[in-house]
Amino acid sequence: MSQIQSIRGMYDLLPGDSYRWQYLESKIKQVTDEYGYSEIRLPIVEQTALFKRSIGEVTDIVEKEMYTFPDRNDESLTLRPEGTAGCVRAALQHGLLHNQTQRLWYFGPMFRYEKPQKGRNRQFYQFGIESFGMTGPDIDAEVILLSARLWKQLGFFDHVTLELNTLGSSEGRAKYRKALVDYLESYKDRLDEDSLRRLYSNPLRILDSKNKKTQELLDEAPKFDEFLDDESRVHFEQLKQRLDNAGIRYVLNPRLVRGLDYYGKTVFEWTTDKLGAQSTICAGGRYDGLVEQLGGKPTPAVGFAMGVDRIVLLLETLGLFPADVGHNVDVYFMAVGEQEELFAQRFSEQLRDEFPGLKMQMNCGGGSFKSQMKKADKSGAHIALIIGADELARQQVAIKDLRTTGEQILVGFSELAVQLKQKLPQ
Ligand code: ATP
Ligand code: MG
Repeated sequence: MSQIQSIRGMYDLLPGDSYRWQYLESKIKQVTDEYGYSEIRLPIVEQTALFKRSIGEVTDIVEKEMYTFPDRNDESLTLRPEGTAGCVRAALQHGLLHNQTQRLWYFGPMFRYEKPQKGRNRQFYQFGIESFGMTGPDIDAEVILLSARLWKQLGFFDHVTLELNTLGSSEGRAKYRKALVDYLESYKDRLDEDSLRRLYSNPLRILDSKNKKTQELLDEAPKFDEFLDDESRVHFEQLKQRLDNAGIRYVLNPRLVRGLDYYGKTVFEWTTDKLGAQSTICAGGRYDGLVEQLGGKPTPAVGFAMGVDRIVLLLETLGLFPADVGHNVDVYFMAVGEQEELFAQRFSEQLRDEFPGLKMQMNCGGGSFKSQMKKADKSGAHIALIIGADELARQQVAIKDLRTTGEQILVGFSELAVQLKQKLPQ
């Protein structure tokens, strides 16, 4: 019979990978702690209406990328394609936004039906920040600084660029949208198929078209800057000032618009030239209208989502995972003979009581001294503990250094703890 394979674009994280992910996750946990953010864990499945209402009906995500299905009760459900909608839904449902601010983070799988390629998967992972209840540019700066600190912690701050833009107010966007459509309508014949499709549904998205001809056309198009309201302009200036103040460099990109409808004012992306086409590793911005749009009181909000798969790729590409990530055995415990095994199992439990956190693997499945030694070596352990008939009779354990000297010494059961403390890397 043929074997069943995983679904295209959805991959397994094997032990070698999972240690790397755990390393990245521990850095995420550290940096969110450093800024006083709390984790929120949300369902992977939500009502389809939630995403339609928040992300927007005519976005790529809702039009083409969602995994939507009727459940057994014929309710339309969707595997979450992003985290913000669910986070706002939960915050509203549990009253987290009543006269209070919130600083939240989440981590987990997201699902989009896309063409799988390097850095683009159908099940992928996002780490995201959402902060609620704060209107000023200070919190915009904070979420950007938090992301920058993570890049520094991970060691690739010098390989990423912060792109920054403001989308102004919804009134300004509506006016600009009209001006842009008026302009592009007279050049319809020069627009590619994608841009034509977006001309009336989502014209701002044309701004970040990758098509060269479209980009040339846009050089002469009306500029959003003329439609920017004063409040948004001041907000943006103050944000830039804060980033300057913190020594965070950025590139202004007036064509940066986001693929999700709920953004206004600040938008930003962190990009890298190390990953080919899938160059954005983190994207976010302000979405002051979304809470109200989902049935709450008007609540300012700003956040970002990081593409964790792409960050793992970047760390791999740049060789930035520490060498000892995945080292999970320090001590390999061998016992040759039935009585010896019984004793060793009991003894190993005592050692675990005495050394919480000791990375010790017990030989299972018996075997000769030689075959156990091979397994000990393969485990990556620094030392082997060995109990054979002689050792058991004399109430001793052999300690063998597996990595440097190869030296083997015999110690009494009662001295083992002291010896182990000396021999293990601190
Ligand atoms: P892209 O332009 O790459 O399709 P997007 O604008 O659709 O990105 P967002 O919805 O803003 O992406 O998601 C934030 C981040 O999540 C992206 O910058 C990227 O790093 C990551 N991401 C999005 N879609 C995928 C995917 N299919 N596979 C892996 N990572 C993804
Ligand atoms: Mg996309």
